[in-house]
Parts: sequence; structure tokens; C-alpha cells
Amino acid sequence: MINPTEGDQDDSEDNYGRHAAVLRSQMSRGNIGSNTECAHYPCHHTGQNCTFCFCPLYPCLDPDLGEYVISRRTGGRVWSCQSCLWMHRDDVADSLFKMMPEIGEKGLDEGTRSSLKAELELKHRKRARAIMVLGATSGAGKSLLVTALCRAYRNRGLKVAPFKSQNMSLNSMVTADGDEIARIQDLQARAAGTRPRGELNPILLKPKGGVTSQVIVEGRPYKDCTVQEYYSQFVLEEAPAIISRNLERLLRSNDVLVIEGAGSPAEINLRGKDVANMFVARLAKADCLLAVNIDWGGAYAYAVGTLMLLEDEERELFKGVLINNMCPGGGSLGDSLELVERKTGVPVLAVLPHLPSLYLPVEDSMDLDQRQGGEGIITVAVVRLPMISNFTDFDALSLEEGVRVIYARTPEELLPADAIILPGTKNTVQDLNWLRESGMAEAVLAKAGAVPILGICGGYQMLGRRIIDAHGLEGSGPSEMEGLGLLDAVTYFDTYDKRTVQVSGSLADGGEVRGYEIHMGRTESAEGALFQLRPDRRPEGSWDRKRKVMGSYMHGLFDLPAFRGLFLSMIERHEGARTKGTDHDAEIETSLDRLAAMIEEHLDLDALLGGDGHGA
Ligand code: SF4
Repeated sequence: MINPTEGDQDDSEDNYGRHAAVLRSQMSRGNIGSNTECAHYPCHHTGQNCTFCFCPLYPCLDPDLGEYVISRRTGGRVWSCQSCLWMHRDDVADSLFKMMPEIGEKGLDEGTRSSLKAELELKHRKRARAIMVLGATSGAGKSLLVTALCRAYRNRGLKVAPFKSQNMSLNSMVTADGDEIARIQDLQARAAGTRPRGELNPILLKPKGGVTSQVIVEGRPYKDCTVQEYYSQFVLEEAPAIISRNLERLLRSNDVLVIEGAGSPAEINLRGKDVANMFVARLAKADCLLAVNIDWGGAYAYAVGTLMLLEDEERELFKGVLINNMCPGGGSLGDSLELVERKTGVPVLAVLPHLPSLYLPVEDSMDLDQRQGGEGIITVAVVRLPMISNFTDFDALSLEEGVRVIYARTPEELLPADAIILPGTKNTVQDLNWLRESGMAEAVLAKAGAVPILGICGGYQMLGRRIIDAHGLEGSGPSEMEGLGLLDAVTYFDTYDKRTVQVSGSLADGGEVRGYEIHMGRTESAEGALFQLRPDRRPEGSWDRKRKVMGSYMHGLFDLPAFRGLFLSMIERHEGARTKGTDHDAEIETSLDRLAAMIEEHLDLDALLGGDGHGA
């Protein structure tokens, strides 16, 4: 944003003339979106709209948007737009562009600027309404409720973003900008119609085994921390500033911010160290909703107990309780809802039904134990590694007719497998040790040659001949160990750097693939490549066609039908599985719309926005 005047310091005729020329030139370019060619791009944030590089409302003198600063050039006061993200929103720029009147010789007079701004404010909030969903327990359904709210408000034409200050997940993905964020925040961004990016999930913890986690900050690997280091140093000294700056940016650039808490806000042992719940609610001045899962039993006690354990000023932020996951025929709730309100002073705003058969990625590896997807005569067994990661990779397989995906923990569970997948892991060395100790390595080797075996990421590394971790980057000290030897490949861990990138290309035999890589380590392979990546046809992965063994670093490789088809065609009795070529993305969209329709039907979304549908 340029300031060609010195605000109210310079109202000479000459200067107004310059305004007019700049404004006319901007209008002649049309709504240009992001001007990535500009040497100053991005002067506010990636993806900003640059149509009004010089703001037609300048100087608006609205303290909610900009501020007076001291000019370095003159020493006088000058109106600064540095903190204003409003004019860089696509929807605001678009509205203003359509409203702009003819620009006379003197530019826009004060009256015109004021009425343009007033009209814009009727359409677009200057600061987002913050709605926060917290859970009385883990598994209360917070993530999907946030997803539902994001899609429902987006459907109303509002600019929406999700936010979760701190997430612990082994299920992450890579954005187009190379940021690593939790898979569920990516889904919520999609529901909201906003670009997935690190600021939506500024702190991501990825457990590495034992008491250590990798801390990802704003999408980039930052450092490894033990639990002790995390709570006694990082949370106290670094996390508040990281969370505040990302939260503030999102509040300034959206109509609605739907925030997700983590675990429970009533973990009283973490008071003063919990940066995922009431800390964020207070910062955002959020209207809080408490979700409880009625399917578990004890929902009333969870609701009342959680609210009663909060401080009075924290409880006052709660606008309602959501009784979630009510099964059909779940019986009458009688006057129980009134009783919750009488005990806590917080009303029950909605009883939300359980939605069966949603096709959406799960967040937690605990959910895998209930997730033995699909019905069919072909069994694809995913080895349930203790540190399994990116397990949404296999969701698309269960879309195919006749395919059953199971998660196998024991050699016995591998016996019926028509195909085996070694998935990604957060710790290749530890999980390879587990594979051997549990007898699973032997069970996999016994099937080699008879059924297709695919390794993804850490699973790919395990399939090779050797894994060399000369610097102990996997956390167990320097080591060199034998792999399963099913691929003629060697993996080296020689730097802490992580490759995080979206990739696309084609199968060696034709057909589109796309996905993303998140890994430490590099693999040198003497096998033929599985994929050729764009833009330079770089070979990726390994493929021993004779023994039907494949390895790749590409997560999400089943999402497009081509690789699903290839993989299933290698199964001997694959006639039982019919590749429908189902569109994975379309299935997700359908589920998001079902979620939005459910929340629209059962919760008063206008009331949550303050009653006017705009939230002002
Ligand atoms: S609306 Fe924003 S960019 Fe325009 S003058 Fe005001 S503070 Fe500056």
C-alpha cells in the first residue's frame, strides 16, 4: 500500500491532482488480484489483493484500520495503512472496484470517500466475528463442527477462515506454498473457501516417539522439543507471540473466524500453560461454544463439569453448549437441557445429529481403530505402525467397489491381505524395529512376490536394503540398519531439513498423479521409477515390476483414479474390485455440504453472528 500523500498534512491542489492520476491508472488495470510481479509483493501477506495499491479512501482516519505514525521524511504525523488488511481482501477490493465513481480532476472528495467507506462497511466487516468451538473432551467433534461452520458461513457469501493455534497430529499435509499444516486444518480451509496456509495452524506438534515432538511453526520445521522443554520454555516464551500475530492477521482479514480449541479448556493442571483454549478465546474475544459427545454417555457431566471448572470470566465467554452426535432414536432428553443451563448459566443451543458415512479425513490415529473402511472381497492391509502418519492416504481406496481397507497390527491380521501397504511414519528407525519385533516384518516378507507391496514415505524407506542415519536425526543416536530388502534402494538421513512440497506428474505407464511430499531423508534407488514428476520428468519412487513391490514419497497418491487402478490391477484376483474412478474431491465436497446443511438446520447461525447475518 503506497501513501502518496502525507494524509491530512498535505491537501494541496497539486497533490489531489496526483491522487486522481494514480486512481485512474489503478482503475484502468481492472481488479488485478495479487500483483506477484511487483518488487514489493507481498507488502502485507501472500495472496493479498493488490488492486488498490493506493487506497481510494485514503486517508480514512479509521483507527480500526490504520493509524497515525511519525513520518521519517518530514517528522510530522502521517496516516499509515501498514496494518490495514481490509483493502487487500479480494471481496472488499471487488466491491469497491464496482462502487467506484468517475474520478474527477481533484480525485475523490471527503464526502465521496466517506460514503464509499460506509457502503463497504455494510458489506464487509473490518474485524472478524470470532466463534470458537471447544470440547469438553477430545473426540467431542470440534473439528467437524468447525468445518461445518466454515462451510455454512462461506455458503452465505462471508469471508471465513478456520484457526487452531496449536495442534498435535501426525496427519499433516503440504500447502501450495510449501507450508506443513494439520490435515484437518487443510480440510477446514477448503470448507471455508480460503487458501490453506501456515497461519491457520501456526503451531503443529508432531510426536516423534518417547517424549519428543517436532515443533512446526507457521508451516516450517522449527525444532524438536521434549514435553518438559515445550511447556517450560516454548509455551511461556515463544508461543504467545506466534499465536497472537497469526490470530490478529486473520481477524483483520475476514468476516468470520471459526476457531477450534484443543482437548478440553478445563485441564486445570495446565493453567497458565494452555495456549490452545481460553488463551485464544480471550485474545480473539470469541463467542465460545462447548461441544459434548452424547454418544459416549456422561455428556451432561462433561458439560457441567467443564464449565464449572472455568474461571467466572472464562465461563462468561460461553454462549452455548452443543450436544453433538445424537443417534437417531436416541430417546427423549426431557428437561435435561434446561437443567444444564440452570446449573451453569449457559444454554444448550443445539442437539446435533450423528451424520453417518461422511467421506472426510480423520484427524487422530486413534480413529483408525474404528476405521476399517469399505466392504469387499479384496483386502488391502495397511500395516498399523505405532508411529503411523498421513493415514488419510488410503481413504480413496475404500471408495472403490469390492475393496476393504484394514489396519493390521499382527501377523495374523495380515494373512487375508491381497495387497499390503507400509504407510508413512514419524520415525522410520523405531517403527522398523517394531516391525521386526512384532513379527510383522516376517509376515510381510512371506507375502512378497504373491501380493503387491507398496511403501509410502517412511514405509518406502523400510522397503529398501539399508537405512543410514549417521547423525542420529531419527532420535535414537547414529545408526545404520538393514531394511526389508524388497527394493534395491538405500536411504540416507543426512540433514535435519525436511522436503515439503506439492508434486504432480504421471505414472511410468501413463495416467495422472498428484500429491505431496513431507519427509526427512533421501533415497537412492537402482529400481525403475514409479512416477515422472513435472515439470522436468524427474523420476520418483521405485518399482520392481516382477515382484510387484513399489515405493514412493508421494502422499495422497491414491486420490486420483490412475494409481488406484494400477495398484488394484496388480492384485491377482482383482476382478473382484471394480475401479469406479470415483472422484475423491467430489466425495469430500458432498460431505462438506452435508455438514453445512446439518448445522444450518439445527443451529441459529444468524444469532451467532450477532443477529444480522453480517455480524456487525
Ligand atoms: S481503508 Fe485501510 S488502506 Fe484505506 S486509507 Fe484506511 S487504513 Fe488505509
